[in-house]
Amino acid sequence: MDDVRKEFESLEELKPCPFCGCEMHLEDDDAEYRLVGEHKPSCYYDGLRNSIPRTAEVDADIKEIHETWNARAERNPVDGVETCPHCGVVCSCQKLKKGSWMMEGDHAMDCPIFLLFDDYPVFDTKTECLQCWNERA
Ligand SMILES: [Zn+2]
Ligand SMILES: [Zn+2]
Repeated sequence: MDDVRKEFESLEELKPCPFCGCEMHLEDDDAEYRLVGEHKPSCYYDGLRNSIPRTAEVDADIKEIHETWNARAERNPVDGVETCPHCGVVCSCQKLKKGSWMMEGDHAMDCPIFLLFDDYPVFDTKTECLQCWNERA
């Protein structure tokens, strides 16, 4: 058994998705780690293969990946918009130039949502965007 496997087994379990409640697991290939789950179609993370980190570092700290994913902030909606489920930052729904909508917020640098980088989900309508974001498991 190599060290990575050993480290996997010593970790606390990954919490379910904060949006849809699906179970999560960590996958690794030679290039990167990914947090993978069977997200519901209405989930903010649906369709994403949430890779943490995106820098293709094979020696990334697995424990840190677990801890940042497992971080859960208190719910504290502002004007009907939920705060980030991981880092707790206030977020807002913004219209993009192309006409689609996206959630924006000043996430912590290690927040799994911040780490989506260019993969932030975009939505056709503001309603859809907010519904998806505000859903909590
Ligand atoms: Zn989900
Ligand atoms: Zn966040």
